[in-house]
Amino acid sequence: MKKHIAVVAGDGIGPDIVGEALKVLAKVGEKFGHSFTTSSYLAGGAALDSVGVPLPEETLKGCQASDSVLLGAVGGPKWDTLASNLRPEKALLGLRGGMGLFCNLRPAILYKQLAGACPLKNEIVGEGLDLMVVRELTGGIYFGQRGREDDSAYDTMAYSRAEIERIVRKGFEIAQKRSKRLCSVDKANILNTSQLWREVVKQVEVDYPDVQVSHLYVDNAAMQLVRNPRQFDVIVTENMFGDILSDEASQITGSIGMLPSASLREDSFGMYEPIHGSAPDIAGKNIANPIATILSVAMMLRYSFALATEADAIEQAVSKVLDMGYRTSDIYTEGMKKVGTNEMGDLIAQAL
Ligand code: NAD
Repeated sequence: MKKHIAVVAGDGIGPDIVGEALKVLAKVGEKFGHSFTTSSYLAGGAALDSVGVPLPEETLKGCQASDSVLLGAVGGPKWDTLASNLRPEKALLGLRGGMGLFCNLRPAILYKQLAGACPLKNEIVGEGLDLMVVRELTGGIYFGQRGREDDSAYDTMAYSRAEIERIVRKGFEIAQKRSKRLCSVDKANILNTSQLWREVVKQVEVDYPDVQVSHLYVDNAAMQLVRNPRQFDVIVTENMFGDILSDEASQITGSIGMLPSASLREDSFGMYEPIHGSAPDIAGKNIANPIATILSVAMMLRYSFALATEADAIEQAVSKVLDMGYRTSDIYTEGMKKVGTNEMGDLIAQAL
């Protein structure tokens, strides 16, 4: 297979971790006989410093013309005082919106080797956790009409049937590839958008008879995630609920440096990035954990290129290196072998 990947390393630890992910991608190409070529583009603070805007047109065009995008992270204190339209984070919204990435996949995995990092009791998480939040990314309250007048303000949550249906179908498709259980989260006891959401889920579910569907109100879902997270496999929900629940789910794994994410279009095109930010406090020191970005490459292979065996191989290599006791500082516990960013990348590439 031949694929061209746009690489946006960004700021802070972005270049450190993306370098290691590309090392692993090259190893996959070599081992499985694929040709992965890359082009690098500027975004965020790096682009502001170089060309004065957070998302240069060349970057968006280059990403749109590629087969998929790998992103590190953007932002940092150097650009914090800029006006909101010049903030590095604008690049993220511009990339997501500009490429129509409406479906955000956020797995929350607690590796059994890192069970000690979970803030929940052992008997609640058992052998580990592996759930997936499927979040609508381009609609809802973050994109609705808004306004402010003196002491009153409003934001509008609006969804069309078509917007709901396309994300709900993604949820079903992903559930079919996993345990065939899908939990739809809404607030249908109060919100009109949620009532439409539930109606659409009930219409769409007849097309996926092998998937078992449940419905939860968002407040209950937030509670259940810490009470009994193992009851969940795939959760599908709207933009703001998904934003909050996916952060909650990621924190029960206790390790921000371990979690990847994907943002997908209707076809298989996607942008892949770790869930963490640019960690300016540790940038360029060879201590950042590259695993979230390496696992983002695994998601790219699985979801954009349908290379499930290759994706599994990366995930198994990560697990093997953890089994061998290697840890970057953020996941280090006594008795383990502490390694830097580069060594961790090398170890995972070797384990492949
Ligand atoms: P952060 O995720 O960058 O860092 C939070 C903490 O986690 C820090 O202590 C950091 O050192 C640590 N950390 C993060 N990733 C790590 C890794 N891979 N290995 C080891 N430790 C890691 O969040 P923040 O400090 O709130 O934000 C820093 C900058 O990143 C801000 O400018 C923010 O706007 C930006 N940001 C960008 C993105 C993105 O590009 N998608 C997301 C969130 C924040």
